[in-house]
Amino acid sequence: MVPLDGPHVPEDRPGCVLCGRATYDPDKRGPAWVRAVASGRQVLVCPECQRERSGWADGLDRCASCGGTRLSAILGDVVCRDCGHTKGA
Ligand SMILES: [Zn+2]
Ligand SMILES: [Zn+2]
Repeated sequence: MVPLDGPHVPEDRPGCVLCGRATYDPDKRGPAWVRAVASGRQVLVCPECQRERSGWADGLDRCASCGGTRLSAILGDVVCRDCGHTKGA
C-alpha cells in the first residue's frame, strides 16, 4: 500500500470548465459536450451549461480567422476545427 496524503484530485481530470461536472455520456438525442479552448487550454462545456448559461461561450477563445469556438489545443498550438486556422502559443 502506498500511503495517501489527502484526497487526490488529478488536475487533468476532464470536466465542465463552468460547473465542474465530471464528464458523462450525454443522451444521444441531446446536445453533446463542447470541446473548446479557453486561455490556450483545452476545456469542455457540459450540455447543461450550454442550455442554461446564455453566455457560456463568452470565456472561450475564438478563431482569429473565422471567429468560431470549435478549437483544439494541440501541443501548444490552437487549431480551429472549422476552418483549420492554427494559432501558435
Ligand atoms: Zn457545466
Ligand atoms: Zn476558424
